[in-house]
Amino acid sequence: FGLLEERDPELAGVLLDEVERVRGGIQLIASENFASPAVLAALGSTLSNKYAEGYPGSRYYGGCEVVDRAERLAVRRARELFGADHANVQPHSGSSANLAAYAALLQPGDRMLAMALPHGGHLTHGSRANFSGRWFEVASYGVRRDTELIDYDEVRDLAVRHRPKVIVCGATAYPRLIDYGVFRGIADEVGAWLMADVAHPMGLIAGRAVPSPVPYADVVTFTTHKTLRGPRGGGILCTDELAARVDRAVFPFTQGGPMMHAVAAKAAAFGEAMRPEFAAYARQVIANARALCAALAEAGMRPVAGGTDTHLALIDVRALGVTGAEAERRCAVAGITLNRNAIPYDPEPARVTSGVRVGTPCVTTQGLGSRELEEVGTLVARAVREPEAAADIRDKVVALLAIHQPYLP
Ligand code: PLP
Repeated sequence: FGLLEERDPELAGVLLDEVERVRGGIQLIASENFASPAVLAALGSTLSNKYAEGYPGSRYYGGCEVVDRAERLAVRRARELFGADHANVQPHSGSSANLAAYAALLQPGDRMLAMALPHGGHLTHGSRANFSGRWFEVASYGVRRDTELIDYDEVRDLAVRHRPKVIVCGATAYPRLIDYGVFRGIADEVGAWLMADVAHPMGLIAGRAVPSPVPYADVVTFTTHKTLRGPRGGGILCTDELAARVDRAVFPFTQGGPMMHAVAAKAAAFGEAMRPEFAAYARQVIANARALCAALAEAGMRPVAGGTDTHLALIDVRALGVTGAEAERRCAVAGITLNRNAIPYDPEPARVTSGVRVGTPCVTTQGLGSRELEEVGTLVARAVREPEAAADIRDKVVALLAIHQPYLP
């Protein structure tokens, strides 16, 4: 970094400012985390330079014998950690992993069934704004209005009526556990492949804090940068039966050269996730999310679906007389970073919303515990309720984080 500061102070300033931004506030974005020095070291390594189209032992470039070791390590660790027949660690992101998974299972125009974006699904689950909604015939399921839980009866009805080739389970903003066994049963009933997109909870699955979809799904896609706390990237697990199709769908169908520095960083993250400390981390992430959720509920902010079993909570902010966008803005001024989020059956447009999403992967990595998360909940509620108190709340945020900094100054 010293070298960068000397040669390109303008860019070095950006990097420093981002560290300072993180140090100066509470990060409650559910999809973010703080990667370890080992992960960051691999990301900043010379493996970034190497072209390695293909797979270990079968590349289209010379000089791959060293990076082959990194990829073999990442694949071996992923398979062991998640108990999967096969792992592909090359997808550049969660969206790339989903693109490749669809490419392995579907042709353009084929039918798929996935969770609707406004109910918590991801863009790649069939939104018209995304390739998935343009290239496939999509049917979408949602959550029930009364319970705000996935309506498995609706999933079955839609599956029987629509006869999808792929059923996708997994979400971006769903706070409760998903019953992969029920999805497997429905997929079997209609002869569909079952794909689980566990981009969000993959770290909780690694830490055995929530059930794994691996025994149920034909294909599991994931990201490595959310609860898993690795580099920004994606991955795919699948059965032996689908291994060759998945590999061909990643390269050469949807990607060229893999980012070998990211592959090495994924190996580092899988290695960290295999340690007992990571299981304790995963359990604490959930305990913290529950403590945060309870404190917000106590302060009059309603948790969607009645609470959380995971790392995130979706909060209906209407009772405080604000929109999700306004709540996000007021929290930002008070030093708390979170995002507005549509709640099920939201009357507001997507850019405004009636809710916020909060998550605990970052604060748990920083070492905050349940008691501190109760305080964070109180601060969030106060930031939304009393915008005039923002400076005072910001002081309290800084005090709370004083001995819990993720990175050095
Ligand atoms: N799938 C789900 C369920 C997600 O929540 C996300 C990201 O938020 C993705 C896929 C896409 O991941 P990426 O942003 O790495 O493309």
